[in-house]
Amino acid sequence: MLRKFLSQASIRRHFAVSSSSSVAFLRQCSSSSQNPNSHFVEHLEDSAESAPSATISIDRTALYNPSEHSHELSAESELVKHLKNIIKFRGGPITVAEYMEEVLTNPKAGYYINRDVFGADGDFITSPEVSQMFGEMIGVWAMCLWEQMGKPNKVNLVELGPGRGTLLADLLRGASKFKNFMNSLQIHMVECSPALQKLQYENLKCMTEDGADGNKEKRINSTLAETPVSWHATLEQVPTGLPTIIIAHEFFDALPLHQFQKASRGWCEKMVDVTENSSFRFVLSPQPTPATLYLMKRCKWTETEEIAKLSHIEVCPKAMDLTQEISKRIGIDGGGALIIDYGLNGIVSNSLQAIRKHKFVDILDNPGSADLSAYVDFAAIRHSAEEVSGVSVHGPMTQSQFLGSLGINFRVEALLENCTEEQAESLRTGYWRLVGEGEAPFWEGPDDQTPIGMGTRYLAMAIVNPKQGVPVPFQ
Ligand code: SAH
Repeated sequence: MLRKFLSQASIRRHFAVSSSSSVAFLRQCSSSSQNPNSHFVEHLEDSAESAPSATISIDRTALYNPSEHSHELSAESELVKHLKNIIKFRGGPITVAEYMEEVLTNPKAGYYINRDVFGADGDFITSPEVSQMFGEMIGVWAMCLWEQMGKPNKVNLVELGPGRGTLLADLLRGASKFKNFMNSLQIHMVECSPALQKLQYENLKCMTEDGADGNKEKRINSTLAETPVSWHATLEQVPTGLPTIIIAHEFFDALPLHQFQKASRGWCEKMVDVTENSSFRFVLSPQPTPATLYLMKRCKWTETEEIAKLSHIEVCPKAMDLTQEISKRIGIDGGGALIIDYGLNGIVSNSLQAIRKHKFVDILDNPGSADLSAYVDFAAIRHSAEEVSGVSVHGPMTQSQFLGSLGINFRVEALLENCTEEQAESLRTGYWRLVGEGEAPFWEGPDDQTPIGMGTRYLAMAIVNPKQGVPVPFQ
């Protein structure tokens, strides 16, 4: 199956475009260890030496110049007023996690809610937008898992945070000749943004039909593969009872996290407050907060000496809880999950970053107008999954190893055999961005457009039901 798939040469019409400004920015930032959040000035108590110990490197492949419409805020935005109201009525600061959740997914004014933030007119670009090969390779992974599952007649294919829907569109196009696999699919999109849901509907070329029992239940089908598609706000809402394949690409990095900082009185939670002149500032909690329980849990999974070296720690309870929810589902229903994100196979210190107009910006500046994301702690995901019985965890391995083992080099060769010169260049740069490390050595174009590889900064991890054996390519 793998070979047959890799040799089907058909090229998506919309190829990745390269961006000069984005790459310039990447170059500027990728090797730096600076913390972009210079705002951290006010403390409730003196903090310990706070040199950030994790490097911040932007891993969103390329960041684009935003279009004119984007995030200029004239007066105080609705979201800023809302955040200030929460702090005012609470009578004190909120956690970074609460801040992050409001900023990204507030139902009225969150960053993701009302707009397309990806690609040439957005703030950054992700792997599925870089090249069709990414979605196709995830398709190979999903088909192999489906075979290992015993080729069930029906399977839930769930994507968490599908962005524009490009990954699934490429997966469905790439796998369209494998009829038994295609016929088994029930697609479920877990997406909080109505604007992105609409885009996903369009990109999957969906059609809405009346249900069989009169007009009561509408059915949505993707005409790319005649597969039913439905949308949900959370994974919990996806029906259980079928074997399930879950894909989470750049989803975990957007989950709200808590930040802790070592102070003279011990670990304190970093909180967001409002100053007397009405601007946001960071403060440290005067006493332990509820999230300290998660900090303690996370620290148990790390050597004491390693913790002792850190002055900051990030903990993401949502990631830990979601991992357990995924694991329970897979343990009961069968199947597996694939998580790909930028991150570390260990505890993360101080990685939260805000990106607007292809620049790092202050996390507290104009909330809702910039993306917030952080390194994913794959070790915490592994430990959280292992607490649930009935699943096995594989990886993480680098994206480069993952895509390489699945045969992306054969795929790129097959595509290169039948394409225009322009497409060939796009394929080569896309390939490098997905699997390369650092600047592309073959690049002869302008310096500021040099493709930067993300092959080692992104990691892939699988959580599967052990009945399926070890998933490819983790054997
Ligand atoms: N996977 C896509 C998009 C990544 S960006 C890609 O690689 O291109 C994060 C995606 O997750 C967006 O679609 C965003 O709207 C969605 N998202 C973020 N937080 C979410 C939440 N709490 N619930 C559901 N969707 C969320």
